Amino acid sequence: MLILNDQSMKNMNILRGGGILTIFKKVTEGAKSLGEGARTIGKKSSDLVETTKLKMEISKREKEMENNLSALGNLVFMQYKGEEGLEDEVDRLLQSTRELETEIAELHEQVARLNPKPPTCPSCKTQLPLVAKFCYICGTKITSDNPEG
Ligand SMILES: [Zn+2]
Repeated sequence: MLILNDQSMKNMNILRGGGILTIFKKVTEGAKSLGEGARTIGKKSSDLVETTKLKMEISKREKEMENNLSALGNLVFMQYKGEEGLEDEVDRLLQSTRELETEIAELHEQVARLNPKPPTCPSCKTQLPLVAKFCYICGTKITSDNPEG
């Protein structure tokens, strides 16, 4: 027979309250991030979608690269221990890893093209808005090919 005294009833209420609070917090956090997303989407939704896709492709290849490298490590160790006939597999993995590396670099370039970095004043290093033609602090002309930093 279960007897609930006042104290355990209070504890249960606190637990329930905590649960509701957590859910409420999650809902508001979700709403917040939705709001932020909507604001950015107002600008260029297709670029955002594309960037997200590219980043997924990058992380997919990065994971593949990690797998390749760890497999290569195993193969090298097996060779060291005297196992033979692994050269073809090592070669295949080396080539595939290099291809992945190239692809990752290309994907990063695509992301950078979609998300141009705001310019930094070459003279006083002030971070400027993306559309700035002149530095608003020192008046230096900002050229479009101004390297960042
Ligand atoms: Zn400046």
